[in-house]
Amino acid sequence: MQHTTTKSRIFLSSPHLSGTEIKYINEAFETNWIAPLGPNVDAFEKEIASYVGVKGSVAVSSGTAAIHLALSLLNVQKGDTVFCSSLTFVASANPILYQCAEPVFIDSEPDTWNMSPLALEEALIDAASALKLPKAVIIVNLYGQSAKMDELVSICKKYDVPIIEDAAESLGAKYKGKASGTFGDFGIYSFNGNKIITTSGGGMLISNNPDALSKARFLATQAKDPAPHYQHSELGYNYRMSNILAGIGRSQLEVLDERINQRRTIFEIYQKELAHLPFVSFLPELNNTFSTRWLTTLTINSEDAEREINRLLTAFESENIEARPVWKPLHLQPLFEKSTFYSHNKQKSISEYLFQTGICLPSGSNMTIEEQIRVIECIKKIFSK
Ligand SMILES: *Cc1c(COP(=O)(O)O)cnc(C)c1O
Repeated sequence: MQHTTTKSRIFLSSPHLSGTEIKYINEAFETNWIAPLGPNVDAFEKEIASYVGVKGSVAVSSGTAAIHLALSLLNVQKGDTVFCSSLTFVASANPILYQCAEPVFIDSEPDTWNMSPLALEEALIDAASALKLPKAVIIVNLYGQSAKMDELVSICKKYDVPIIEDAAESLGAKYKGKASGTFGDFGIYSFNGNKIITTSGGGMLISNNPDALSKARFLATQAKDPAPHYQHSELGYNYRMSNILAGIGRSQLEVLDERINQRRTIFEIYQKELAHLPFVSFLPELNNTFSTRWLTTLTINSEDAEREINRLLTAFESENIEARPVWKPLHLQPLFEKSTFYSHNKQKSISEYLFQTGICLPSGSNMTIEEQIRVIECIKKIFSK
């Protein structure tokens, strides 16, 4: 795309180094731990587990790999169904297809934009009466905001269906004081370059079940049976995190709280400057929850929202500012066109509405106040026309 400006690019969310990453990387080089195992991997796993308050974790090559391992551990197989939030990044659901299982997509509710307890319950009632309960429910916490976990957990308990919490976008968030990602049988985090902290690429599987975690380590290292001649009875993967990248993660984790404060401050500035604009509302922070505000997202609640969003995206591009629409719901993706979808209510799908009216603003913790003012001025200009 052509830019009509020479101004420097403002990114949606770019890596923000702490400055001490190199210390951990050097240590790995000096000790020759250049492998997908080593002291940084062990320490990073312990540090994440203790930060979020779980018994253990397994460092892997991506958040997607962590979801795939969780599905394998829950024995998801061909022909099984797995329920998943519809409003999310495709990586939440792709591992369901890796296992040749069938996704069923659940709508959002308006208070957190995350999985609707109403739609989930309806889907489970149908599944129970068809004698085909899902093997798992993948609950996603979008943009740094926890889903309505009390309601969702109690519905899943009622039907005895395990939960995988996709907390790729919500590391550091809390629900009633408890860390996002820790409510299910498994939780996953991502350290991709755009997330709140990064290892350039990486992920973490967390759980309170030590046996499941050792099984995850086994599966993530090619499922080698205990024999010197490389014997295999099960299908495994090559999913472990590099000891060099785990070093970056350890350094990044030291500044996670600072990054959360910075993202929340960016949100507060946007809110102060833009909340009065006609039809604008921000992703709410549910009572008793703490959002990291990973990305500041807003909706334009007017008749011609789609046109307004397009005008904003065009204006941003010409000002060399990166912004994005809210995730396109997975039930609308060509890849999943045959999948079933349960809507929050009969009249309207909340996830479709959020997709049509929502936009994510640049929210990187390394964005300067001057850059944020450039974004704000661009929005105000569009709204004044
Ligand atoms: C980033 C992301 C993932 C995947 O994480 P990777 O580390 O990129 O594989 C999964 N789910 C959601 C909601 C994400 O935003």
